Amino acid sequence: MYHDIMDLYGDKGNMLVLSKRCKDRGIPFELDTCGIGEEKDLSSYDLLFFGGGADKEQLSLIPDLLSRKENIAKAIDEKTFVLLICGGYQMFGKYYVAADGSKIECLGFYDYRTETGAEGSRCIGNIVIDAQLDDLHTKMVGFENHGGQTVGVDHPLGKVLYGCGNSFDAGWEGFYDGKVLGTYLHGPLLPKNPKIADFVITKALQKKDPGFQMSDLQPLDDTLENSAREALFKRFEIEGDK
Ligand code: GLN
Repeated sequence: MYHDIMDLYGDKGNMLVLSKRCKDRGIPFELDTCGIGEEKDLSSYDLLFFGGGADKEQLSLIPDLLSRKENIAKAIDEKTFVLLICGGYQMFGKYYVAADGSKIECLGFYDYRTETGAEGSRCIGNIVIDAQLDDLHTKMVGFENHGGQTVGVDHPLGKVLYGCGNSFDAGWEGFYDGKVLGTYLHGPLLPKNPKIADFVITKALQKKDPGFQMSDLQPLDDTLENSAREALFKRFEIEGDK
């Protein structure tokens, strides 16, 4: 969604990862885009992805996004999985306060809301979290850069091991309720977190095949991905995944 304006730190790269990991396994993958004003039935997709952006971009897409509220609710209801990064994550909550203090009403699917950092302060840097997604327990690595301070998250995605997370000193990062995964982790997220990529593929496939399990996915060679992770774990003196 809004691929042309919501693509901070190469968030669209997440879709390249999904495409490659599906194609390597012979799983058909089709990528479509939905920009401002484009007519699309979002409930007809297996996965919706919405990346991060600057305040200006977030503001510019709000009328279009709000006009799709009912359609997005239908998509979630009909098991379209939703992956949200940073700005996209913020916009599924009640409101977002931009750096200039203006308050933007958002979709309001969840009670969380995003205030702005005091005196323009931002959470910037590498981040590692200990995440729980259904039966999958794994560490996620990424990069965060947000002024927004997200509070009132009732289902956080994981515990912060290094970095900030939902807000300065939040201790917790992101949102996950089985249907929607929201996170501040750019990087892009999926190249450095292959298990999360496979988790997202599994959730997307479950729309049409509810019995599909992550263990049904053919294993791929993740040697390079895992050494990138190990390098970061080592740098931050965090024990890697077993
Ligand atoms: N503009 C938002 C913020 O600063 C989101 C930034 C982002 O997507 N990285 O909080």
